[in-house]
Amino acid sequence: MLNREDLLLFERKFSDINIIATSMILIYYLLFIMFGNIHLADEIYTATGFVAVVLTDFIFVHFLKSYNDILKKVLKYIMLLLLGWTVLLTDTMLYSTIIAMSLYFSISFQSLFLFDITEAYSRVWAVIFACSPIFLIFFTGIIYNDQSNFMIFIIVISLCVISAVVYNITCRLSEFALMFYNKINSLNGIAAVSKEESDSIKIQKNKLEQINEQLSIERFKFKQANEIILKNNEEIKIQNTIVNAAAKALDLKKLLEYLTEATMVSMKLDFVSFLILADEEGERRFEYSSRYTKASNIVKKNLERMEMSSFAEAYIKNGGIVEISRNASQTIEELYGTDIHSINITPVVINENSMGLYMLGSTNENAFLNNETFLKSLFNHISLAINNAILYSRMRTMATKDGLTGIYNRRYFNSIYQSIIRRCIHSQSPLTIILFDIDKFKSINDTYGHIFGDAVIRYCGQTALRYGRKYNGLPVRYGGEEFIIVFPKKNTKETEAIMQALHTDIKTHVFHTEEKDICINISIGIASYPENCRNTDELLNAADNAMYTSKKNGRGRITIYNQDIMA
Ligand code: GH3
Ligand code: MG
Ligand code: MG
Repeated sequence: MLNREDLLLFERKFSDINIIATSMILIYYLLFIMFGNIHLADEIYTATGFVAVVLTDFIFVHFLKSYNDILKKVLKYIMLLLLGWTVLLTDTMLYSTIIAMSLYFSISFQSLFLFDITEAYSRVWAVIFACSPIFLIFFTGIIYNDQSNFMIFIIVISLCVISAVVYNITCRLSEFALMFYNKINSLNGIAAVSKEESDSIKIQKNKLEQINEQLSIERFKFKQANEIILKNNEEIKIQNTIVNAAAKALDLKKLLEYLTEATMVSMKLDFVSFLILADEEGERRFEYSSRYTKASNIVKKNLERMEMSSFAEAYIKNGGIVEISRNASQTIEELYGTDIHSINITPVVINENSMGLYMLGSTNENAFLNNETFLKSLFNHISLAINNAILYSRMRTMATKDGLTGIYNRRYFNSIYQSIIRRCIHSQSPLTIILFDIDKFKSINDTYGHIFGDAVIRYCGQTALRYGRKYNGLPVRYGGEEFIIVFPKKNTKETEAIMQALHTDIKTHVFHTEEKDICINISIGIASYPENCRNTDELLNAADNAMYTSKKNGRGRITIYNQDIMA
């Protein structure tokens, strides 16, 4: 059984086709009336009836949709009766009657849809409803027109045939309606299923989109984490390289060279320069180490300007990190004409003292951006290594040099003495040793105090250093107030002249004490290999003996060693 909505839908579909067909027959009929040679008044009645029924049908189908409305059925039935009456009982031509009949049936089909034709029971009612008006009119016609028995028989047979045909058509229509219903239902089903499916697909799609979004966030985070890991790895590698370089040397100069090289290569820079303040023997001096690539376009002039202590001192005074991300060569005077874009200048701070500069440069822009933490930790490592080298150098100085005079001590002299002798023998050159001792020093100490005595020893030591430097000699504080100067490649005569000058220097120097100004004197001994001492092992002793000979002979003099002294 069809539900009401299905039937209404079917009725609408079918009646639209039917109304169009009916309207076409009607137009044809109207043309026939207008141009055919017929009794116009009767035909106009018939035509008006048809027009009214077609319009009513259209209104029924499209505007009065309540299917079970009894009024609708009654109205339709009356219309069919009137229509049948106008068709059959008016005096019309046979041809127009045939057209009118077909119009009548096409309209009566419409009334079939006032019933549920998919059910056998209502289908019979539908046929009776559609055919009975014409039956009634025929029988009325028979009664009024007094027809012959044969004619009555023919009419009854025709009406039976018409009824059978209408029933048959109704059955076909019913099948068609069912088919239509099934199709609609299956379409609705498919639509319902596909709607359900599309809803679920939509949900899945939404979920997928959410998962995708989540995934892309995760992917982004992962990428960031990966970049950080890679950066950290790279930084660890750089740090390793630099720490390894730092462990390679204890000597400051060598260490700076290694660090410069390692920093330059591992960080892929175009310019690296380390300037370290390395005070030595009371002198302020910088230890430099620089490297640069060809691409940096740095020339010697740039380096020379940067290696000037005024440059370093200006930055050390500034105390902070100077970082330039682009066009550094136009900002820093010393880099004019180079292709260095980024530069980082960090002061070397050791034990809270500014001790120099680290300069890193690159031809790329922003080379040191967001690298502060890494550079800080890197420079900490480097500073530690530099501090170690400075401490080592100080310790070595302490171990080899005398604290009072700043010249080499006896221990250092003993450690290198043999190698000096070997070098002289090897190069077949002379070797002269002088030894001098301050005369009557004990009494100076006793008279003017130990502090004054220290000042006298310091003066003698510095004079020995001065003469040693001037004449390529190695000055040594050999004992309390005894000094040695080793002159490689010098003979007795040359040395004697030097020592005469030194002697004059010391004995003419005026020391100021609280009481009075005083002068001191020294006794000097000179021994020379191979000139007056053929055995190198005896050389030091020979000089000592010569010095004692000076003491013995009245002090304040120079004695050159000879065989008699030895005896
Ligand atoms: P001579 O002319 O024979 O050499 O007489 P002298 O008084 O110099 O004799 P001696 O060599 O015995 O005296 C050395 C003195 O030098 C003994 C010691 O107290 C003193 N002396 C050694 N080292 C130092 C030092 O570092 N400072 C001071 N103030 N005195 C020192
Ligand atoms: Mg003495
Ligand atoms: Mg002495």
